Amino acid sequence: MRDDNPSMTELQKIDRVHVWHPFTKLANPLQPPSGSGDPLIVITRASGAILCDENGKEYLDGNASIWTCLHGHGDERLTSAVCHQLQKLDHCSALGLANDQAALLAAELVEALNLPEGTRVFFSSDGSSAIEAGLKILHQARQLRGEGHKKKFLNFCGSYHGDTVGAMSLSHSPLFHRPFAEMMFDALHVPAPACYRCPHNRALPEKGADARLTRKCHWECVRDLERVITSNEPRNINAAVIEPRVQGAAGFLMHPRGYQQKIRPLLEEHDIWLMTDEILTGMGRCGPLLTGVDDGAHPQIVALGKSLSGGVLPLAATLIAPEVAGPFSAPDAPIFYHGHSYSGNPPACAAARASLQMLRGKHNTAHRKKFASILAEASKIFWQHDNVGDVRHEGGIVAIELVEDFASRKPFPAYKRVGAAVCAKAAELGLLTRPVGDCLVLMPPLCATEEQIEKMCQLLSVAIKCVLNK
Ligand SMILES: *Cc1c(COP(=O)(O)O)cnc(C)c1O
Repeated sequence: MRDDNPSMTELQKIDRVHVWHPFTKLANPLQPPSGSGDPLIVITRASGAILCDENGKEYLDGNASIWTCLHGHGDERLTSAVCHQLQKLDHCSALGLANDQAALLAAELVEALNLPEGTRVFFSSDGSSAIEAGLKILHQARQLRGEGHKKKFLNFCGSYHGDTVGAMSLSHSPLFHRPFAEMMFDALHVPAPACYRCPHNRALPEKGADARLTRKCHWECVRDLERVITSNEPRNINAAVIEPRVQGAAGFLMHPRGYQQKIRPLLEEHDIWLMTDEILTGMGRCGPLLTGVDDGAHPQIVALGKSLSGGVLPLAATLIAPEVAGPFSAPDAPIFYHGHSYSGNPPACAAARASLQMLRGKHNTAHRKKFASILAEASKIFWQHDNVGDVRHEGGIVAIELVEDFASRKPFPAYKRVGAAVCAKAAELGLLTRPVGDCLVLMPPLCATEEQIEKMCQLLSVAIKCVLNK
């Protein structure tokens, strides 16, 4: 696609010249084989589970606008909360100043998430910043407790915690991070407890079965963690950082139930703290409000982002347990020199408060359970394809992993970019979602009807057929 292509609209041309899109090739954003070769779609309106482009073409929002849109676009409760707040107080600084919405949201979060009394909430605007703040708080807290030797962090292979330098250091992606390796600090990498491709899983793949349920192993993944801890001077380890249950950007790797409970004694034995990154999994996306806590984890830090505001405004939060916040509360304790201009932004906090109410109201636990079972049922359709190796879900998320060979779980060569080709086809058909490698993702907003959920699965299934069975 040349920049002067006559089929481009005015907006597409302007965008093409001026905008640098995240995780998108600057020179040719949608060239084959990854994309259709068409220019980028320009979205101008949205309602419920539907996005609409400048020409009036409608698309189902299959991945909740990159995992953010929790309830659906333009929900009356959220938009009126934001509009009302904008008129009352648009913004004020949180540096040495409080505002009602941020204070009330902090209290409501601690209560709704069942976190211990004394938990502190640090607000920022995006997930990477929530992780970065958590990391620095953990580091300084150890110094204040006289445990300054505890400097190392553990993370899980493939994990993604954001794109700031600290968050990158806690992640592990050669593709993303090679150019920045010299800027990053070393972390201890633990193999991810992801059953489908786990080297310890001796079960053969079975059509229609979640690899986590058919696995044959002896929880060697727990011993993997133990080995990394004991072979690296455990007394120097500050904290483990994990995306509980679902590692999103790693390819929607999903962990077996029971993992958090099994690793907890190991972490406690060596006084290793835990930071759970719930930026994707939190606020009901996987069902419970906090998946890590639901699985029996006892995190000292929880990072929230993406759907925290219901998906309408940028908002993130770092929740800090009393044992970590405590040392900063002493009268002679130092200041945590870290902050953001838009920390505790009132309209964003008002949106998050309304979202929290919706999670107790129309999108409550029972709704989310029903929603998850409709999605699970509709996604059975994917097993009909020879090249679908695994279909796994957690709550409102389903991941479909494409493979070249089912029996051996052999992936397609990366250069073929099969996942991207399928999603480009799906966009043509009226479904927007973005793959992670060859893992396709559906994560509809909670307002999606049964019919819309089924339609999403059908369109993605047709797209798979078009790309792979020609
Ligand atoms: C998206 C994401 C982040 C980063 O959040 P941003 O708001 O994009 O900076 C961190 N961790 C996880 C698990 C995520 O999914």
